[in-house]
Amino acid sequence: MNKLILNFKSNEFKKLKNPKEFLGGKGVNLSRMGKMGLPVPPGFTISTKVCDLFYKNKKKLTKKIVNSIKNELKIIEKETDKKFGDLKNPLLVSVRSGARVSMPGMMDTILNLGLNDKTVLALAKKTSNMRFAKDSYRRFIQMYSNVVMGVESYNFEELIENYKLTKGVLLDTELDENDWDGLIQDFKNVVKDKANKKFPQNVFDQLYGAVSAVFLSWESNRAKIYRKLNQIPSDWGTAVNVQSMVFGNMGSNCATGVVFTRNPSDGSNKIYGEYLINAQGEDVVAGTRTPQYMTKEARKNANAKEQSMEESMPKVFKQLKKILNILEKYYKDMQDVEFTVENKKLWMLQTRSGKRTSKSAVKIAVDMVKEKLISKKEAVLRIDPNSLDTLLHSTLDEKSEIKIIANGLPASPGAASGKVVFSSDEAERLNGMMQDTILVRIETSPEDIHGMHAAKGILTARGGMTSHAAVVARGMGRPCISGSSEIDINYENKIFKTSNFEVKEGDIITIDGSTGRVILGKVPTVKPEISGDFSKLMSWADDFRKLKVRTNAETPTDTKTARDFGAEGIGLCRTEHMFFDEDRILSVREMILSKTKEDRNKALAKLLPYQKKDFIEIFKIMNGLPVTVRLLDPPLHEFLPKNEKEINDVSKALDLPIKEIESRINELHEHNPMLGHRGCRLGISFPEIYEMQCKAMFEALVECKKKKYKSIIPEIMIPLVSTEAEIKIMKDLVVRVANRVKKKNKVKIDYLVGTMIELPRAALKAKDIAKHADFFSFGTNDLTQTTFGISRDDSGKFLNDYIENKIFDIDPFISIDDGVGDLIEMATLKGRKQNKSIKLGICGEHGGDPKSIKFCAKIGLNYVSCSPYRVPVARLAAAQAQLIKKN
Ligand code: PEP
Ligand code: MG
Repeated sequence: MNKLILNFKSNEFKKLKNPKEFLGGKGVNLSRMGKMGLPVPPGFTISTKVCDLFYKNKKKLTKKIVNSIKNELKIIEKETDKKFGDLKNPLLVSVRSGARVSMPGMMDTILNLGLNDKTVLALAKKTSNMRFAKDSYRRFIQMYSNVVMGVESYNFEELIENYKLTKGVLLDTELDENDWDGLIQDFKNVVKDKANKKFPQNVFDQLYGAVSAVFLSWESNRAKIYRKLNQIPSDWGTAVNVQSMVFGNMGSNCATGVVFTRNPSDGSNKIYGEYLINAQGEDVVAGTRTPQYMTKEARKNANAKEQSMEESMPKVFKQLKKILNILEKYYKDMQDVEFTVENKKLWMLQTRSGKRTSKSAVKIAVDMVKEKLISKKEAVLRIDPNSLDTLLHSTLDEKSEIKIIANGLPASPGAASGKVVFSSDEAERLNGMMQDTILVRIETSPEDIHGMHAAKGILTARGGMTSHAAVVARGMGRPCISGSSEIDINYENKIFKTSNFEVKEGDIITIDGSTGRVILGKVPTVKPEISGDFSKLMSWADDFRKLKVRTNAETPTDTKTARDFGAEGIGLCRTEHMFFDEDRILSVREMILSKTKEDRNKALAKLLPYQKKDFIEIFKIMNGLPVTVRLLDPPLHEFLPKNEKEINDVSKALDLPIKEIESRINELHEHNPMLGHRGCRLGISFPEIYEMQCKAMFEALVECKKKKYKSIIPEIMIPLVSTEAEIKIMKDLVVRVANRVKKKNKVKIDYLVGTMIELPRAALKAKDIAKHADFFSFGTNDLTQTTFGISRDDSGKFLNDYIENKIFDIDPFISIDDGVGDLIEMATLKGRKQNKSIKLGICGEHGGDPKSIKFCAKIGLNYVSCSPYRVPVARLAAAQAQLIKKN
């Protein structure tokens, strides 16, 4: 490929193997729209390869590139019959970034480039509109000086605001050509003062400066943060699109807007968007003017007075609707489109796959299958499993009493409560202290990205449904209310006021991003259900997947939630969690601190009925599905009494002096509890603990049989095994207790005995261990900890440094590391070699991580087990893993 710059109409496009990699998303779509014969203003794309060359050439454009840009400009000049820098009919261009994937609001855009003190007069003459020309010039100075010359925008905003105050007007539209003329002079002075350079008058210097600035913006802080949050590689680079300008701000026959082919919030198949008459693109997205609705229906529903586009420009609206239909059929996906109307002529400025909420993503995918636009397989592959998380979280409990203090636009659904903060830095600071916040801003800008990420929800006073806040929040899955004009924010005093209330920084509010309600205080939430489109998509996913999905649960509530979400069994019931209840902990402490076996047995006898009752309840809920019960695992010190009262209570219960209790506590202290007396090591030292647990479980089984519940085959799991002898001794114990219960009750009991593989030695010796195991369950939390020798409890303090230094791409406690993966794969092969029918699963946190699930499917595990709320995520990820494996 020789050409580094491509005209939108160039036939070279066909030769590109990966057009998006080379031209970026925006460039490819402009070329495609051009080829479909849609009205696209002429232009060209400077490829991502040039971005690479730019950085290699000390952040400068090479001579060769400069010449190619000049040649391409000539082609546009021909197409538009205008000339760049001409004093009669000047060509103006826009310069925009366009990376491989869209990064809304992250990169820089410059409009009206090509204006200077002379061409502005030519533009005025040509359009017979001096006000429009001057307004365009001042906008260009503002944007260019900010993006290219680093002069902060508030310098210009301040001048405009002060001028309006002196003139006694409220709106920019009330300023005339003479006002703008004066302001242009002031702007130029500010530029000279702040940048130590004059505003460039040479149009070619302007162009090369703008192209370079777009390339430089790829390495800006906000782009870096966005890339990190969205796992976008830094070597992709951005392309630059140079396109002839069309104007939505030339008068009342002009407009500009953003429209989605379907509703990005709820997924309904109705066009959805906003437009502004007599405005330029950034007016809609920046949220500085509140835009009008596209359709009559939307306007009526919102009780808005200003005409919709359907009413004000019916002919152009009809044409636009037709084009939206063509685009959606072509891309087979919901599109987010920008358009401009210049003197009643419609121009398409860009199309891209629209960002959407998880709810609408599911609805759109399911609807498109119904409409025969895509297959079920495509629908399943289209949804990001991690995005389901937001669908599985709670909405406001409508039964609770609420105090609505303001309303705004329902920009991104979901409910969130938290302390009010007025700055992104504060949101980030409090998030570091595990405190929930709601970020309240007049409007957000790309500089707020870290705060929006740190906050639980976002509330803005200005801006529409496609404002920066709305788009970014939807992408992140954060609840958001935008354009709540009822709130009046005072940053200095850190308060916002509504007609009746005053809310200070630190006060708690709740926002409901699905309805736009701002509520005082914290509101209870309710759990969502899997139904409708979601359950349909899930059932398609289930048809494709081979991996089973179980859950990690030990309480009846969690077990039930997991079943409702489609869990096919319990992969890990951590029995120690059943010991922590307030009414049981004293008996547990008695058991640990007992000095004699007799005392210990007494305490265990008190615990047995509790364990038995829990098992009965869980077996009943699981209704015949497999349940893996893990025998006690954590270090004993976790249960020890910590304060005076707790020590007193145990002393009384055991009838031992306080001093003795204290010395026993000291004896049990461990320097490194994670590597200490835990797991099966407890079972070796105190077999009576495991015996009680097994007895409780087998007796629970007998009880279930009597009650005629569907029969369960429990899978008894021995934790932290590293040697063959350990599993052998523990298995003998289980069998012994089972035989006793069988004999006593004269019933048949079926069960499996297996082990966790969570220590490197267990993986290495999997063949020997498998002689005594019906199943292996990979405990990847401990396996990651012990393979790296990194404490899972302390890793948070330094893992970020490892990610920043690119030692890890991702936290290995979240996504399986490939070294840990090698151990798992090896143990799988060894285990299967010894025991062909051995059941293999995973129950570490990785069991709910889509990337790790892909790995589990690849090496042929039988199931993954994850927390209840991750079950649907795992079901979808398992289906995708299977579909990708097939391709
Ligand atoms: C594990 O180590 O992966 C595991 C599931 O056990 P726990 O987290 O209880 O140590
Ligand atoms: Mg473990």
